Amino acid sequence: MPLPEVDTAQVKREPVCIIGGGPSGLVTAQVFLRDGFQNVQVLCRDPHVGGVWSRDRIYPNMTINNVDGEFRFSAHPMTPPPDSTLTGGRLRGIDVCRYMEEFHEKHLRIPSDGDAKNEQPKSIVRFNAEAVKITRSPNSKGWDLLVKDTVSGETETLYFPRIVLCTGGASVPVFAEGLAPKDAVKAGFTGPVFHSSDAWPNMMTILDSVGVQEKPDPDAVPGADGHKSVVVIGGGKSAQDFSAYIASQGVPVTVVYNKLEIALAVNKPLPRAIRQSRLMSVFSPHITLNTRIERFLHTTAAGAKMIRKTWERMEEDSHDVYRVPKASPLRITRSLFWDVRSGDEGVKREDSFVSLVMKGKIKVVAPTYVSKYTSRGVETTEGEKLDASAIIVATGYGSSWNGMLDDATMLEIGLSQRVDSNALEEFKWNYTTLNNPPDLAPVPTFPDGTSKAPGLYRASVPAKTIDRRDIAVNGTMFTSSIGYTLEVCANWISAYFLGEAMRLPDSPEDATRLTLREFAWSRRRYPEYTGWQNPSVTSTTPFFCAIQAADEMLEDMYLPSMRSGGNWLTWLFKPISIDELGTLGEERSRKRGETNLNKLQ
Ligand SMILES: Cc1cc2nc3c(=O)[nH]c(=O)nc-3n(C[C@H](O)[C@H](O)[C@H](O)COP(=O)(O)OP(=O)(O)OC[C@H]3O[C@@H](n4cnc5c(N)ncnc54)[C@H](O)[C@@H]3O)c2cc1C
Repeated sequence: MPLPEVDTAQVKREPVCIIGGGPSGLVTAQVFLRDGFQNVQVLCRDPHVGGVWSRDRIYPNMTINNVDGEFRFSAHPMTPPPDSTLTGGRLRGIDVCRYMEEFHEKHLRIPSDGDAKNEQPKSIVRFNAEAVKITRSPNSKGWDLLVKDTVSGETETLYFPRIVLCTGGASVPVFAEGLAPKDAVKAGFTGPVFHSSDAWPNMMTILDSVGVQEKPDPDAVPGADGHKSVVVIGGGKSAQDFSAYIASQGVPVTVVYNKLEIALAVNKPLPRAIRQSRLMSVFSPHITLNTRIERFLHTTAAGAKMIRKTWERMEEDSHDVYRVPKASPLRITRSLFWDVRSGDEGVKREDSFVSLVMKGKIKVVAPTYVSKYTSRGVETTEGEKLDASAIIVATGYGSSWNGMLDDATMLEIGLSQRVDSNALEEFKWNYTTLNNPPDLAPVPTFPDGTSKAPGLYRASVPAKTIDRRDIAVNGTMFTSSIGYTLEVCANWISAYFLGEAMRLPDSPEDATRLTLREFAWSRRRYPEYTGWQNPSVTSTTPFFCAIQAADEMLEDMYLPSMRSGGNWLTWLFKPISIDELGTLGEERSRKRGETNLNKLQ
């Protein structure tokens, strides 16, 4: 039975709340305003927009995995970063930060009748406003939000018929077991201990911790000869960035990791026809193989050989660019093909993490884990003791939904679900490229044998309550094409709330089955990755195939997909541009039978 019909005019009139002022929240708000929602409100816990890229969080050497054109939205151009031709347009944290601020200024301020002449239009973003508790309102229609002003501490309850969670997955610090600051205190360690999310605001304390007399020796080997060193725990991007920054300040730094997140690197910028086309996405197997070339590449022996060789080559080339020796701990990396935890550094840099390790400016202790703190620093699982002046713990983030929503509510709404692994057995993919996978990473199970799984259909709406059209989520699709997918998801959510003609599952049960299929695919494609345990950051993992996932969502809205165009020969190399999405508002409004788009946008 199809989902119930919607009174579009009423939906547009009623208030809608977007929780989060990061990239997901901003684009969702802009798309809603453009589509004629008359009362859009954004709650942002921070004093600035941008989320991970807000001006309080970015640090000086923060480069990102994306190049110019990939981290923006169609309604607003981005000023290209400096030295674009040399770096291939590599974006820095500051570029994304400025862009998000500009986007907010231009698109999320609305003039109102009461505004005085020359007064700046009012922003729809309410800053320093944290959603601390979300509950279904007592009449079971809509949501009550307990909102706290993070400056005054005052709270109030607001009611919204519809909400969109855009709270991201990188704001709640998680310390690995036994590595919380209180554990350091217990062990008698007196130096500073910070999670990576707090490292930048506390950088002076961290740098000063080594003591002035030790700083002037630029040739000091970190950690040797009694030299204290800042110890960074973890092998991900933050761990690499912070240790590179600390080393660049002439301060000894030691990084301890089990596996390193590999960053793709090349000698010269790749042309757009390779870097920003569909080539990479076709070279990665997707949940459905929609084109002849994908079927050849992923289901034949010859195709699989070519694919696996290509990925191995990319991995090898990234090491070769830096002349990393075969036995170097820098080669203890996560697989580029089987894992999503990789980065894209672009052109080789002299100040990158790998460069600085190769120059001896950063000491590496790997593969191992830090098992505990000692009074002098840390100890590894093998018992190696490392003296530390300060410690940065870069062991990831927890769900931004915890606290705001309790487990029972999350299950009830369907933001997550519990799954018996047998229920995944029916989903099979006989891809030759997926032969001989690594072992499936174990995940915690509940006493009844089930384990936690994501519950979002198309990474956007809880399958279990898809028929209610009152809650959605943006920002949980693990993607390599962030601007493109966030904007497509925002359109999909708007269309879903407005009740536009869409290809949707007929019932919550059908939608739930499809989320299980998606989950089974995540496990099959990326067996070692369990990041979906934090559903606020990952509900689906198309990653390199994000463009195919976005195409499917465009098709759900009965809109043209594969918008980069080209003929049978050239389509693979046609660069994808976010500007392809610039007409989505008009296309959808025509579909709704409306002629006037909201002129504000
Ligand atoms: C160090 C680092 C490097 C990264 N590099 C890349 C990269 O190179 N490329 C890439 O594509 N992605 C990268 N990411 C992922 C990053 O999360 C995304 O780029 C992007 O920021 C996601 O946007 P978002 O809006 O979904 O979440 P966020 O950017 O996390 O924004 C979340 C927003 O929600 C607000 N919020 C949270 N909880 C509440 C609440 N209860 N009430 C009110 N507001 C709330 C926060 O204040 C914030 O405004 C990186 C992440 C980190 C941590």
